[in-house]
Amino acid sequence: MKITEMIEVETVTDIVCDVCGGSTHLKTGGHQFGTLKADWGYGTTHDGERYEVHLCEQCFFQALANLKQERRTHTLFSEDGQDQAENLGLVAQGDYFDDAWDPISSPRK
Ligand SMILES: [Zn+2]
Repeated sequence: MKITEMIEVETVTDIVCDVCGGSTHLKTGGHQFGTLKADWGYGTTHDGERYEVHLCEQCFFQALANLKQERRTHTLFSEDGQDQAENLGLVAQGDYFDDAWDPISSPRK
């Protein structure tokens, strides 16, 4: 026997960019956003602090450009470091179905 009842459920209706405040909802449906996330643990200056920043596509790539510039500055005299700055954080391309191998979440044995 099923017993039904109307209940109030909290759900996510939108995800807005934490930088520009714009919605990450697309006309084609769904949300597209990047996440900057950190859980700082024992031994760090920020022990016990957790961060999660949602970024729209434009703000994500602006933040990434800033990080790439920092990388270039830190590796100014290293050819490898300069090359790595170009693809900083890029783990897949042409992965339209989210089926590319991810070395962090699924390490090969
Ligand atoms: Zn934004």
